[in-house]
Amino acid sequence: MAVRIASPYKNILVTGGCGFCGSAFVCFVVDSAPDVHVTVLDKLAYAADLDSIAGLSKDGVELVVGDVCDSNLLERLVPGHDAIVHYAAESHNDNSIADPAPFIATNIEGTYTLLQAARAFNVRFHHISTDEVFGDLALDDPRKFTEESPYRPSSPYSSSKAASDMLVRAWSRTYGLKATISNCCNNYGPHQHSEKFIPHSIACIQRGERPKLYGDGLNVRDWIHVEDHARAVWSILTKGAVGETYLIGANCEHSNLEVLRTILKAMGQSEDYVDWVRDRPGHDRRYAIDASKLWREFGWTPIHNDFTAEVSRLCCETPL
Ligand code: NAD
Repeated sequence: MAVRIASPYKNILVTGGCGFCGSAFVCFVVDSAPDVHVTVLDKLAYAADLDSIAGLSKDGVELVVGDVCDSNLLERLVPGHDAIVHYAAESHNDNSIADPAPFIATNIEGTYTLLQAARAFNVRFHHISTDEVFGDLALDDPRKFTEESPYRPSSPYSSSKAASDMLVRAWSRTYGLKATISNCCNNYGPHQHSEKFIPHSIACIQRGERPKLYGDGLNVRDWIHVEDHARAVWSILTKGAVGETYLIGANCEHSNLEVLRTILKAMGQSEDYVDWVRDRPGHDRRYAIDASKLWREFGWTPIHNDFTAEVSRLCCETPL
């Protein structure tokens, strides 16, 4: 049974609420703050998973199928909401390299369209972004990304997210929009689309294929459970200072090779059952988040702290 939490908001619009991260946030709000009504706006693109919010009470959540780029729809939908949490995005780096166009449309134009609606109806806005906007760090660099790190995005995906962050900052500063931004590290957990590294590797092994690993496999990602991400976003939405950016991370750096070996072990495969493939162009070497501002200001800490056990559980629970 979730602990009931009080909310300063009554009606929250969550874009991309049928996606991996957005649905975890919707579930968290509906379970923990039952007085809040959540409207999910999602165009049900290929990564959406209706099952991820299917078990929720129909009184607490309503799904509107539509596009964040549709200004007429937003004009009808946004009034009556007192907060918008903007998750909707094209989110897969590999796809952005093959075809950047949808990333420019949803991530940049979609954010712009939503900002204009939030501004018109004076609605509190929280923008979900990624640590990938900061580019990468060397493996031996003692530093981590902070809220002051310069933007150096590498891929069409991360540059489209960087552009959307800049729009949010400008709307906050120029128009006084009550906005916050969070940049989170790599998420793992249930309902992630099978194109992403952990579910993709699990699905390959289930099919009897070797999972692929880019380059030397030593690229490092900083991991967080998707439910911890959702809890952090709630802290920022309810306690964050307008105009501020917060980094979200759980101090959990692992190389891709380490993650794959965890999966292989959990699924009873030898650690060399790997298809080594040529590195992705522009592949970032390492991400690492210093989330001390979030931890210090809100007393937020991750609940899911045993990465190896959590990933092993996903290996058992992922349906064939
Ligand atoms: P996802 O691809 O699983 O889900 C995206 C959702 O947005 C889908 O349900 C899709 O249908 C919807 N959508 C796409 N285009 C839309 C449009 N034009 N209008 C309305 N809905 C649309 O992505 P995710 O992994 O859940 O990522 C969500 C957000 O979190 C993104 O902004 C991403 O940058 C950010 N983020 C993700 C991670 C991660 O590790 N997954 C890490 C940090 C930040």
